[in-house]
Amino acid sequence: PVVPSGGVVARIIDEVYELCRADTSGTLADYIPELSAVQPDSFGICLATADGSIYGSGDLDAAFTIQSISKPFTYALALADRGVAEVARHIDVEPTGEPFNEISLDPQTQRPRNPMINAGAIAAAGLIKGTDAADRFARIRRSYSRFAGRELTMNDAVYASEARTGFRNRAIGYLLRGANIIDVDPDEAVDRYFRQCSIDVTCRDLAVMAATLANNGVNPLTRERALTGPLVEQVLSVMTTCGMYDAAGDWVTTVGLPAKSGVGGGILAVLPGQIGIAVYSPRLDAHGSSVRGVKACRELSSRLGLHFLHVT
Ligand code: GLU
Repeated sequence: PVVPSGGVVARIIDEVYELCRADTSGTLADYIPELSAVQPDSFGICLATADGSIYGSGDLDAAFTIQSISKPFTYALALADRGVAEVARHIDVEPTGEPFNEISLDPQTQRPRNPMINAGAIAAAGLIKGTDAADRFARIRRSYSRFAGRELTMNDAVYASEARTGFRNRAIGYLLRGANIIDVDPDEAVDRYFRQCSIDVTCRDLAVMAATLANNGVNPLTRERALTGPLVEQVLSVMTTCGMYDAAGDWVTTVGLPAKSGVGGGILAVLPGQIGIAVYSPRLDAHGSSVRGVKACRELSSRLGLHFLHVT
């Protein structure tokens, strides 16, 4: 793909914003009260280029929790800490076509099918190095902050609710421990996952995080390296096949960009070498992805010609 010039990008973002704003379908995540207490009409679209230009419309600076968009970033840190081969012994890279919270372990190897479902994400959280639990989470938070180019913080109220209600995730943690996929205390790994899901971000932050992936791991604003090039490729590959819950096939055909969505209402997408895109709108479809987010990404991809298989 050849991304159009800045002026065209800015105009198309405004058009797509106006078009998608009219869509008020979908429902807020309501498994914890904090997620249904957000402004349902919030909507932001942000695009950051691999050389650091930022374009956007709408609510670019409203905070929301990163939720499942944390998964590729913790997987990235696990890869950096342990290497691709060791991580592969614990977490596979095959898409499931199943919902994110499926208790889906390979019957032969007991490995979670991929790091974008909860089982794989909890396993990745269990592989993070550090001196103690606090240090291991601090390393995750600092790593996300390098991608975002600013200090990110955890939302305590969301974390408390996640921790109070996350029985299914605890069950997954214990299964992983029983199968020796993680060798740390399963409560610690699951607690770390709850904390990472509760990190607050803005639409602008997610666009810069995406642009850092697009820029081969170097943050285009701070010039700080957040991840090595080969690991960026590994993370984007898994996002391509497994990033959009059980709608990955539909996403690849209609948008054609590695992406990850979260039930907080964010979606992050990457065109390698060129741009990062983020959309925030908290009303979700049946898969758990932002309704306006999916629609806006489809429109941006087709109007800007971003599908990674698109030949100009
Ligand atoms: N904290 C949520 C969970 O693991 C995140 C879900 C999501 O964003 O998909 O249940």
